[in-house]
Amino acid sequence: MQARVYRTVRFRYVPTSATRDLLTTFKDMVNEAIRIGIEEGIRGRLRFRDRIYKEFQIRYGVLSAYPYSVAEIAWSIVKKNRKWGRKPIAKRRMMKMDSQNYRLNGRILSLPFKKQMPVLIPLDYGEYQRSILVDTSLKRGSVTITEREVIIAFSKIVQLGQPNSRTGVDLNEKSVVCSDGSKYDLSEVVRLQTEYASRRSEFDKRNPLDQRLRRKFAQSRRGRERVRQVLHRIAKQIVDTASAKSQSIVLERLKGLQESHHRGNDEGRRKRGRLARWPYRTLQSFIVYKAAWEGVSVEFVSAAWTSKTCHSCGRINRNLKLTEREWRCPKCGAILDRDMNAAINIERRGTIECLGEARPGAQGKDEAVKGNEHMTTPILQAETLKSSLRPPLNEPSSGSLGIQSQWLQN
Ligand SMILES: [Zn+2]
Repeated sequence: MQARVYRTVRFRYVPTSATRDLLTTFKDMVNEAIRIGIEEGIRGRLRFRDRIYKEFQIRYGVLSAYPYSVAEIAWSIVKKNRKWGRKPIAKRRMMKMDSQNYRLNGRILSLPFKKQMPVLIPLDYGEYQRSILVDTSLKRGSVTITEREVIIAFSKIVQLGQPNSRTGVDLNEKSVVCSDGSKYDLSEVVRLQTEYASRRSEFDKRNPLDQRLRRKFAQSRRGRERVRQVLHRIAKQIVDTASAKSQSIVLERLKGLQESHHRGNDEGRRKRGRLARWPYRTLQSFIVYKAAWEGVSVEFVSAAWTSKTCHSCGRINRNLKLTEREWRCPKCGAILDRDMNAAINIERRGTIECLGEARPGAQGKDEAVKGNEHMTTPILQAETLKSSLRPPLNEPSSGSLGIQSQWLQN
């Protein structure tokens, strides 16, 4: 089976008077299209386009590619604001262009604008962006330009093979442990988060009343960006390993995981704060996103009792403290690293069918949970992340982390 998968790649660029003129003109056109559309009661992207097609080419001196794109953006803004009951208006300067209407020569993006006046934008890129640009198997989609970035959509066809086995991923504060034995150190994330939080709290003490500055600081992207880089690297390693071993990935649904760190357990206030800030969701979304790109399937399972259940006999030990780093089963005597025990339990809750048995000696995927009389929390049915395999409504919009892939008839 095959699927088409999408991803967006961001490039920085240096704005010039030409790019500012382009973005301003585009925004003006969108707002004018919205005004005309509302005045004349026009509904639908194609009707917007037909109405402004000739007029805008003459009035703004732009090439014919523009009315199409302007109509699409204008209609999407009208629709969105109608839903929220607000006055529709394009506030930010941005533009979008379909794949057939722009060119990319090496690192030079060439956009049509006015007659005989294409706008050329040299793109800055790192190793990752370069690897995407030189990959001839990728199909280029639409381009979105903002005041700071150029975002290009790419897609490719991936083969969806049947996995040989599953790997359960246990997320902890200081490490990620996979049931296939691989382990990833997260101490750098902990360090960055702590450093960032303490700098922030000192700042709050010094400037308790300056809301404007505090907001600005809260939005400061540097600390967050560094954490994201580390998480990207770890997610890539997890997905690459699963891909190389033909494994599917089993993740915990996060609700249970965060609830386990509530007030009144044996953690201090400081640690609870740290855990609340821990970007579990970000790491999971990176894993899901990268897995879709590699054709690796991902599913989410209940996180309930994964760390307090014996991987070997299914006994639940309610008294297990967070400080105990080793699983010692009070019933069968099994001894295993605490996180590995949890990772195996997560793996077993997976329902994606594999070619071979997931683990020699495994007694069935839900054995560790089902049939245990000590269980009081209902275990939700594991559900495959079907959204990663649904056909896309359209291409991913700028900045979306959404994964859309499309079944192809085979
Ligand atoms: Zn046991």
